[in-house]
Amino acid sequence: VGFREIRHVSDLRPVVNSHPQGRRVDPNAPDKYLSPLKCLTVALPQTFTLCNSSFRYESSENPRRVLTKPSKPVYNDGVDNEDWDYILYVNDVLGGENGGDRYLILDVLGQGTFGQVVKCQNMRTHDICAVKVVKNKPAYLNQSKMEVAILDMLNKQYDPNDRHHILRMFESFTHKNHLCLVFECLSSNLYELIKQNQFKGLSISLVKVFTGQLLDCLQVLKEARLIHCDLKPENILLKSLQSPHIKVIDFGSACHEMQTVYTYIQSRFYRSPEVLLGLPYSTSIDMWSLGCIVVELFLGLPLFPGTSEYNQVSRIVDMLGVPPHHLLENGKQTHEFFNFVGVDAHGRKQYQLKPMDQYASEHRTNEQPSKQYFSHTKLKDIIMEYPVSKRNAKQSDIDKEMAFRRSFIDFVEGLLELDPLKRWTPQQAAKHPFISGEQYTGHFVV
Ligand code: ADP
Ligand code: MG
Repeated sequence: VGFREIRHVSDLRPVVNSHPQGRRVDPNAPDKYLSPLKCLTVALPQTFTLCNSSFRYESSENPRRVLTKPSKPVYNDGVDNEDWDYILYVNDVLGGENGGDRYLILDVLGQGTFGQVVKCQNMRTHDICAVKVVKNKPAYLNQSKMEVAILDMLNKQYDPNDRHHILRMFESFTHKNHLCLVFECLSSNLYELIKQNQFKGLSISLVKVFTGQLLDCLQVLKEARLIHCDLKPENILLKSLQSPHIKVIDFGSACHEMQTVYTYIQSRFYRSPEVLLGLPYSTSIDMWSLGCIVVELFLGLPLFPGTSEYNQVSRIVDMLGVPPHHLLENGKQTHEFFNFVGVDAHGRKQYQLKPMDQYASEHRTNEQPSKQYFSHTKLKDIIMEYPVSKRNAKQSDIDKEMAFRRSFIDFVEGLLELDPLKRWTPQQAAKHPFISGEQYTGHFVV
């Protein structure tokens, strides 16, 4: 009983129970039944309502995860913390004052000195964007207004078609006394990329691709007579993880060449000799930073990781020698770091770097000897002796890599030129064979 003889494949007809036991009707499709899996996932709100008829689901009542630390309310009627940062929550909304667009907060993207950057969704267009919420302090507010003005000018006047690797800004507005800047949403910064690569350095061909794009951006900045003033791996972002397309961000320290108000600028590792020495400066300080950055991309570690201003100067002098005398002669800070040691045959003053102990006792600082991360002191040796990746095991590939490195060294030496007047401009550097792809046949003269 209950058995049938099977003579043909068509006799194997599966029996489908039209109303499976224990399954309830799908409210959206009355002829279908919901599986237990669906009841406990996509149909969970209905399941809860069946269990408790007073249950109602509202997405606005979802718990709001706080993104700002510390999250204790202190200033600005309790919406700011002790650092004057706006306390941000997931699912909170920024904007909408005076009928402007509203932005739903999704997640945190980064934190800097000026404020917090969060990933948001424009609630009208549904586009994803990055919003920088600036601290509610006059100094940060004023500087960030400058960032808005500079980005606006760069985007509209100098790079209307988004071809020169400069961050796009869509709009800016004020939210509860915080200036908010709406940007295109980008991916990881180059420091994170180096870190993900276990600080082993990137391939020389990838370094070349990044450098070409940075020079493109710096050419536009030079044309606009703007100095970025804080070029470093954290302020260079990949557009996405799928391609090596990059963008320069963070124009919060940028200034016009005619308005170089501040003397304490640039992040220490990337600070140029003229800024360290207290000299007037120009767009060429960004080219120094670029030199430090491209070497760091190749080596995976910063070239001049100074632990103090003195240590920064001493690392530069150890590798590249004492700066030319006309810089030392005019620098407001020269006597902090150098001793006058006499006059040469041409009547020019001679200087020597102060010994560490002398500097430390004069400035009451606790200077430490430079920790060395490379087994050579000269740039050429550090780059040439850097291990070749195993994937390049074939002799012909190694020869090619070494030729590429010789071209790279010559290129970098033009950027890490102590004298800002001799240092290459972005226009000159872009013509170097390392970037142009022409064969490198010996020292490039611009
Ligand atoms: P600060 O001036 O405070 O340094 P930044 O503009 O450099 O602020 O932003 C801080 C960090 O936030 C960056 O290093 C980066 O990791 C992240 N970030 C900034 N802008 C974006 C963006 N448009 N897309 C994705 N992440 C961003
Ligand atoms: Mg920054």
